[in-house]
Amino acid sequence: MEEEVIEKYKKAGEIAKKIKELAREIIKENAKTLDVAEKLEKEIIKLSGKPAWPMNLSVNEIAAHWTPTVNDETIFKKGDLVKVDVGVHVDGHIADTAITIEVGTKNWNELIKASEEAVKAAIDVAKPGVEISKIGAVIEDAIKSKGFVPIANLSGHGLEQYQNHTPPTIPNFDNRSTLKLEEGMAIAIEPFATNGVGRVIDAMKSDIFMLENPKPIRSQTARKILNFVSENYQTLPFGKRWLAKEVGTFGLELGLRELTRNGILHNFSVLKEESGGMVAQTEHTILLLDSPIVTT
Ligand code: MN
Ligand code: MN
Repeated sequence: MEEEVIEKYKKAGEIAKKIKELAREIIKENAKTLDVAEKLEKEIIKLSGKPAWPMNLSVNEIAAHWTPTVNDETIFKKGDLVKVDVGVHVDGHIADTAITIEVGTKNWNELIKASEEAVKAAIDVAKPGVEISKIGAVIEDAIKSKGFVPIANLSGHGLEQYQNHTPPTIPNFDNRSTLKLEEGMAIAIEPFATNGVGRVIDAMKSDIFMLENPKPIRSQTARKILNFVSENYQTLPFGKRWLAKEVGTFGLELGLRELTRNGILHNFSVLKEESGGMVAQTEHTILLLDSPIVTT
């Protein structure tokens, strides 16, 4: 990995760390989710980074991909278990990191700790040449030793410039794969722990989209959105509320629907634990250099 690229990954990581600290300060009972998301995203820009995706603030049995919508009035409630999944990029080089915050209560300390200890154990063994199943095995052990289960159909992944999900898949259980981590890879490791059955299912469509397969489109509104997305977000996920601010709400719903129907945009689903179990997530980004660097 080139020195310049390493520096950009590190810078994104430094910003992401500050965003996690700020999230711990401002996520409180009765705080509006929209205010929190916007404040965190603005802070990323203030610190000279860019949000790599809309701030994900998934609560309780929702494991991932929830972000406030346009004019969202949702507030955080006492007892909420919030997964804050932060994405920051510098020139497309991504820091992908997550923490879990419990709002005003301490009922889920052990569940949170299970995901924290799992990622720590995984980082300890994540080196070039190590089989990815070994990462999965230490994650599974750490979570099960606390009496919880890992979510099997959510996994860590590789990171490349402007791409936040590339091979290899880093499992959260021992999947027996003999595939090995390679030097020069940037990876995100993200164990999810739950007291449920350990699987997620689609709950509903989210307000998060991503450019998937650009091709010409006739409708003028759709074309305007597509041009804006290609230029500003490239192949990283973006939020409907970002577009509402940047290109306006007129025709936005219709345009997004048309682009999604034509396979040009991918619309992410909100993912919830199948049995309604509570979910905690901790995530870090690691550069697999000769001696690996945790950037976040
Ligand atoms: Mn993440
Ligand atoms: Mn990730």
